[in-house]
Amino acid sequence: MPTALRAPAAFLVRRGGERLLFDCAEGTQRQLQRSSVGLPDLEEIFLTHLHADHFLGLPGMLKTFALRGREEPGLTVYGPSGLRVLFSKLKPFLGRLPFPLTTVELAPGEVLERGDYRIETFAVDHGVAAVGYALVENERPGRFDVEAADALGVPPGSERGQLQRGEPVTLAGGAVVAPDAVLGPARPGRKIVLTGDTAPAPSVVQAAYGADVLVHEATFANEEKERARETLHATAAEAAEVARLAEVRLLALTHVSTRYFGSELAREAREIFPETVVPRDFDVVEVPFPERGAPELVKGGARSEATEPV
Ligand SMILES: [Zn+2]
Ligand SMILES: [Zn+2]
Repeated sequence: MPTALRAPAAFLVRRGGERLLFDCAEGTQRQLQRSSVGLPDLEEIFLTHLHADHFLGLPGMLKTFALRGREEPGLTVYGPSGLRVLFSKLKPFLGRLPFPLTTVELAPGEVLERGDYRIETFAVDHGVAAVGYALVENERPGRFDVEAADALGVPPGSERGQLQRGEPVTLAGGAVVAPDAVLGPARPGRKIVLTGDTAPAPSVVQAAYGADVLVHEATFANEEKERARETLHATAAEAAEVARLAEVRLLALTHVSTRYFGSELAREAREIFPETVVPRDFDVVEVPFPERGAPELVKGGARSEATEPV
């Protein structure tokens, strides 16, 4: 539940010009407005499950988009089985929306292909219909070796672009240059995995394998391990064990019970998995391409003047 300093679950993924929202708890639109991001005309919202602390922000946000007079673009809400029933119940309260609203139910193991990356759903263990989400970028072509291209006599210009896209070119003299001759090894893309609410689960370890960032819930500390089992949530140490087994680069713990500040959870998790952070509201996790460094928590990275108390 929310506290004076923490809002319930919502994560915005910014990738290039795209803005993807994962979960939309009560107050999400206002937290976005208070941040340096603002409230963009989101086109896609992904719900992990239909517990109230993960979707209650949606009706208000949809009404705001309506009041802004949004007709385009449309909005698609993805979520587990039960999403359509939820929206049919919300409909009388939402009234007419001037923009197209689509709901898409997803089962674990589905893949949404989208050009240079994909979103995969996976099973979690929370006792209700629920999916985790993995955003997985395609491999990128290797680095272009200018010296090699010069040596092979590839003229500067469109031929080099062609090679960079992985297509062979035929030079004026008739010689064929293969892309391999001027490109380094393919470079991995990035992978971000969001679990939503879950007890520690092998399916999460598998889905998160090699991720740059694993956003895992850690509702409880060790002292409440029993309660974590009963409620199908995770402790910080359990989330850390998942991160260790999955060999991720950074673990971000969220969904922290109001009993904890975050620092005690970080301490317990780091004994098992040192690269753990517990982001606060308005923090940002930067995820560079692997060759450019490790993912990093930027404290207050999305703070703005509106974030500060008056
Ligand atoms: Zn839940
Ligand atoms: Zn929850």
